[in-house]
Amino acid sequence: MLMEETVRINEIISYLPASENPLSADVGIIKGKNSVWLFDVGCSSAAEELINRMDKPKIAVISHFHPDHMANFEKVKSDEIYLGANTFKYVKRGNIVETDLFIDDGVKIHLFPLPSSHAKGSLGLETGEYAFLGDSTYATMKQGRVCYNASVLKEEISVLKNLSAKYFLISHDKNFVRKREEVIAELEEIYSKRDPKESYIWL
Ligand SMILES: [Zn+2]
Repeated sequence: MLMEETVRINEIISYLPASENPLSADVGIIKGKNSVWLFDVGCSSAAEELINRMDKPKIAVISHFHPDHMANFEKVKSDEIYLGANTFKYVKRGNIVETDLFIDDGVKIHLFPLPSSHAKGSLGLETGEYAFLGDSTYATMKQGRVCYNASVLKEEISVLKNLSAKYFLISHDKNFVRKREEVIAELEEIYSKRDPKESYIWL
């Protein structure tokens, strides 16, 4: 496989775009001084091959427990793993991130828990002007209907507003790199539709 398959964002950050068949999330690649940081390891053999061809030590940050984001974790030999407590139940190893974590690997890496209606125990990764958010901004399904948990959405918006990144990287989105203001405005619009008597915002 050739490097053309990855998309370059800047000197340090690139990504392998998501695929639909097989369903595999975008794999973020951040070149640190000592290690390559991966945001999600995907589910496809393309992601597996790409990751296993890297010769630097690899640190995998797993956004959440859904297979399209992490099914490759046994196949790619990452030297270290960071994940949320709920994802740990599936992966059964790695460092659990429960509070903001700042790591300096030549590039500054900020890992943070991300309240999410889509998946419990989501994690985000911020580096410079960019923040990888995985699927955390997506809704969930309850009783066959698309919805957000109102209080979780409120918490998520406040975490996102505290980030300094100018761009949010949203898994599976054709426009993977999005302006932070746009993403926050969309979530605030959804939050504004809540019925204060209801826990869920039905869409
Ligand atoms: Zn996904």
